[in-house]
Amino acid sequence: MILFKKTGDLNRYLDQQRRTGATIGFVPTMGALHAGHISLIDISKKTATLTVCSIFVNPTQFNDPKDFQKYPITIEKDIILLENAGVEVLFLPELDEMYPDGTKNLETYDLGPLETILEGKYRPGHFQGVCQVMRRLLQLVKPDDLFMGQKDYQQCMIVKRLIHLMGWTINFHTCPIIREADGLAMSSRNVRLNPAERQRATAIYRALSRMKDEYTAGPPPDTSPTHWLADLKKKAKNTLNDAEFRVEYVEIVDGKTLDQLPETAPGRVEKSKNTGAVVLVAAFQGEVR
Ligand code: AMP
Repeated sequence: MILFKKTGDLNRYLDQQRRTGATIGFVPTMGALHAGHISLIDISKKTATLTVCSIFVNPTQFNDPKDFQKYPITIEKDIILLENAGVEVLFLPELDEMYPDGTKNLETYDLGPLETILEGKYRPGHFQGVCQVMRRLLQLVKPDDLFMGQKDYQQCMIVKRLIHLMGWTINFHTCPIIREADGLAMSSRNVRLNPAERQRATAIYRALSRMKDEYTAGPPPDTSPTHWLADLKKKAKNTLNDAEFRVEYVEIVDGKTLDQLPETAPGRVEKSKNTGAVVLVAAFQGEVR
């Protein structure tokens, strides 16, 4: 694995590789790597001839400064994981490499309604920050294929929109969620949970699984879709509240538009496309979102 810290060096190396016919797969991360990240790398390695991974904790996407300060950093361990996973190139830039003119007064993007709903509503400015860093990374790496996790469903939609706005041709791959044995989605922030919080955090998976099963089964006879969906959400919120979560939202939405159901297709899941209905949850366990 070759490690680059400077954009110029990375640029030159990738140009050279491209000239020899290499295709580039890219996995951007903020480090504190786990098996979820490695799964994206595995998919990239099957798709492209050269896999680039970046580790950069991007300050412009943190709406909460405490969250930024407490973001876990485990670089030595990350490097070993990436080397074992067979990553060819690691890009590890410092702040001034990514933002040579500082992080104030950066460009903004027209993200449409995606910016003001769900994550956009609860984390103002977050998606602008995601676009600011992703634009720089994608301009630099110029990947053929980009791999991001379905765990951050709305983020995938935002980055697809950025690619569209910039007029780039990049194959976007939305990759499956990797979970711990007890169902909790792997996440860098999980290490911040104390043992009791970590145990209670499994309630998210229980709530999601129940909602998925009941949604797939469809509404009982003579129930209005609106009441039925409201009831499903209420039960999920109760499960989370019982586990001492502070819930920001539990929503069931159209997977293509993030419009609230049942405005679109109540009770219908397009299993083959995996984009029928999507349940999105944000909640705090202790201090960890
Ligand atoms: P992060 O380092 O949290 O910014 O995540 C980097 C990438 O890994 C993003 O595209 C995430 O969606 C993805 N990712 C994070 N956790 C998981 C997981 N448990 N399963 C699959 N992908 C994940």
